[in-house]
Amino acid sequence: MNHANLLKIIETSIEVHDVGKVEHLTFSISLISHNKMIVYRTKKDLATHLDALRSHGKIVGFVPTMGALHKGHTSLIERAKSENDALVVSIFINPTQFNNTVDLENYPRKMDDDLKLLQALEVDIAFTPSVKEMYPEEDHRIFDLGNLDKVMEGKYREGHLQGVAQIVSKLFETIRPDLAYFGRKDFQQLVMIKKLVQLLNMETTIISCPIVREADGLAMSSRNELLTREERNVAPFIYITLKIAREKKAFLSPAKLKSWVAEQFENQPLMKLEYFEIVDDKELKPVEEWSENVNKVGCIAVQLGGVRLIDNVIFD
Ligand code: AMP
Repeated sequence: MNHANLLKIIETSIEVHDVGKVEHLTFSISLISHNKMIVYRTKKDLATHLDALRSHGKIVGFVPTMGALHKGHTSLIERAKSENDALVVSIFINPTQFNNTVDLENYPRKMDDDLKLLQALEVDIAFTPSVKEMYPEEDHRIFDLGNLDKVMEGKYREGHLQGVAQIVSKLFETIRPDLAYFGRKDFQQLVMIKKLVQLLNMETTIISCPIVREADGLAMSSRNELLTREERNVAPFIYITLKIAREKKAFLSPAKLKSWVAEQFENQPLMKLEYFEIVDDKELKPVEEWSENVNKVGCIAVQLGGVRLIDNVIFD
């Protein structure tokens, strides 16, 4: 949002004697005129600002993150910036999606650097709520996600996808974005969010963004920085194996290809394969034959030292 747009909103608010909104927007303009991003910590302040924008027909985009931002995140942010009038980026490490307290404690936290990066990317609004703000009381909601939270991540990280659904539904209720951006890196999450939006009759359009990789092919992830040097050196093996698997599709059935991938990891002393599944891209049901008329995705999860890495490739 630019200076002129804000001025227009303030003028209208003065006309309708909305003093609260005028004060709020005057504050916003003082920041934006210095090209400053606005950081909100509460749902109420954020929602007030967004309501004002929406009432002037502005398109609001949203990129939810857990911080420790890297080029995977910035690719989503840059796309969202180019497709919306105003962009909200949230940074919130959502406790309900962690099924393992050590993983939650170890998750990288870099709020100061992240906010500087968002400012440099000219993001309009950062939302950095506290846990208490998002969960004033425990969230006991369970969403009917059908097959989507039973397979793959659902099997190995119990409750993880329900936790993601809880936080995304809360963030969407506050922000009511027109467009929200998610990476294909977390493929199961992306499919689940599309279903969640339908389930809750939300009007947000979910935009799927391609996986951003390091030069050696490793999918970028905030967790990569937790790898030791030795682990980091072997980590590209995951994507190398997925790429070869894609070529072997011409000669091997889905079942044989799964066995071939499993064998490759048996020779990797530092890595433990959790799963490699070939699934359709809507219901995440296993693909038995290549002739099936569905889009096929190969999804993998690997434990490397104390770090869990996921990746996927499209098989069509
Ligand atoms: P996270 O902070 O890990 O929760 O990720 C926030 C968003 O960034 C999610 O939609 C992720 O799928 C997306 N994302 C994370 N890593 C990548 C990547 N390497 N390429 C594309 N999108 C990514």
